[in-house]
Amino acid sequence: MRHKNPPTYPMDQAYWYLCPNSLERLTKNIEVDLVIVGGGMTGLSAAQAAIKRGLSVAIVEKTFVGSGASGKSSGFITPDAEFSFSDLVRMHGAQDAQRIWQFIQSGVDTIYSNIMQYSFECGYEKKDTLTLASTKHSVKKIIHEHETRLKYDLESNFYTQQTVSTAIQNSGYYAGVSYGKTFSIKAFDYCQGMKNILQQQGVHIFEESPVIKILSDRIKTHDAQVTAKHILIASDYALSELAPFAYDIYHAQTFLLVSAPLSETLARELFPERPMMAWDTDLIYHYFRLTHDNRLLLGGADIFSTYSSQPSFHNRRVFKQLSHYAQKYFPQLPLQWEYMWPGLIGITKDLFPLAGKDKDNPNIYYISGAAGLPWAAALGRYAIDALYEKRDDLDEFFNPYRRFCIPHALQAIMGTRLAFALSNFKQVGSL
Ligand SMILES: Cc1cc2nc3c(=O)[nH]c(=O)nc-3n(C[C@H](O)[C@H](O)[C@H](O)COP(=O)(O)OP(=O)(O)OC[C@H]3O[C@@H](n4cnc5c(N)ncnc54)[C@H](O)[C@@H]3O)c2cc1C
Repeated sequence: MRHKNPPTYPMDQAYWYLCPNSLERLTKNIEVDLVIVGGGMTGLSAAQAAIKRGLSVAIVEKTFVGSGASGKSSGFITPDAEFSFSDLVRMHGAQDAQRIWQFIQSGVDTIYSNIMQYSFECGYEKKDTLTLASTKHSVKKIIHEHETRLKYDLESNFYTQQTVSTAIQNSGYYAGVSYGKTFSIKAFDYCQGMKNILQQQGVHIFEESPVIKILSDRIKTHDAQVTAKHILIASDYALSELAPFAYDIYHAQTFLLVSAPLSETLARELFPERPMMAWDTDLIYHYFRLTHDNRLLLGGADIFSTYSSQPSFHNRRVFKQLSHYAQKYFPQLPLQWEYMWPGLIGITKDLFPLAGKDKDNPNIYYISGAAGLPWAAALGRYAIDALYEKRDDLDEFFNPYRRFCIPHALQAIMGTRLAFALSNFKQVGSL
């Protein structure tokens, strides 16, 4: 069955993303204990951990808080962002996988406890995490994930091809695995909520203030500078412009489509058992959930757009690909697409974040390539523990100077995009 409404081309802007009115710029020199470059999930989380220690803190943000990947994201808050538990076991062995999983879970917990403690509105909705096999071949990945989760005492519910329609209506998927204690948010509103809380707690937040230079004890914008004992650079992929990591940090592009609101009945029927946020097993995966106002949010990309050097607005090819996907899997829904936007996510070649101290100046700490919002929340706190308590238990995974399978010299010949595409597909293709 085809859609009742033919696809119309949607507005090229994020549905929930509004430039706030009053932004304070950095216009005069100040001095603090810690200056953070970048006001996304990573920078906000670090600022919160630092202010709790009684430090004086400033965030200096290029545009406005939440304007990067954090505010454009689809707001799935689950440890599953980028790597499933069985991926981590395959890559690092069971013991380390459990440590890493707990670390990501701590990011989920941070976001949850802030929403509960400060009660700001950010579209919080309890939703289970559901991974769906989109081919017969990928059923074995789903079974493996289910069995691995059970083996290590993690909750897991398995759906066969016959029972998967109890989780997602009319589906053409071949199997599924789900678990609970996860949720979705409007991540832009979360960032804005945390901005207000942190300002009340004394964090100085400067927006529309791009940092153009990092020195050993200060950062500079066009108009002024912030002197600090410690500097945390949480600018995600823009780190490659501010520090010597041009070969090791790049970005991947993904797109979100948001439909007009569905009726309450259709929305409830889509996830018959309980609300879920779903991923599929495609190499460039699709992901979807309902928003708080019953719109279908669908994300994905294609091979040509994932590694493009700039965000590609008005990408009709991706729009057609995503709307065909929706027609195939949700033929019962009369979808009218209203919004579409691209977003860039910082990535490394092994898809693990890059986080650690500068090798010449240990007062400077870098974080980039957080593989999702919970990762970002956990890494912000980790950086503060590393700077002020010498925490280093996960440094072996995040070391910014680690070697990747494609060395710099070869990357210089083959080009950044190809080097990242090959390394990333090697990493996820073997799942
Ligand atoms: C479309 C999309 C959907 C996603 N969906 C999900 C999801 O559902 N779940 C999930 O877990 N993850 C998701 N992600 C990934 C997640 O959003 C990121 O991993 C996470 O937000 C990274 O946070 P961050 O603070 O490190 O980076 P950002 O949020 O990008 O923050 C970095 C900040 O640094 C600022 N900056 C850059 N250069 C400078 C400079 N020179 N001076 C000052 N400031 C600077 C930027 O303006 C930006 O605000 C999604 C990402 C995208 C793009």
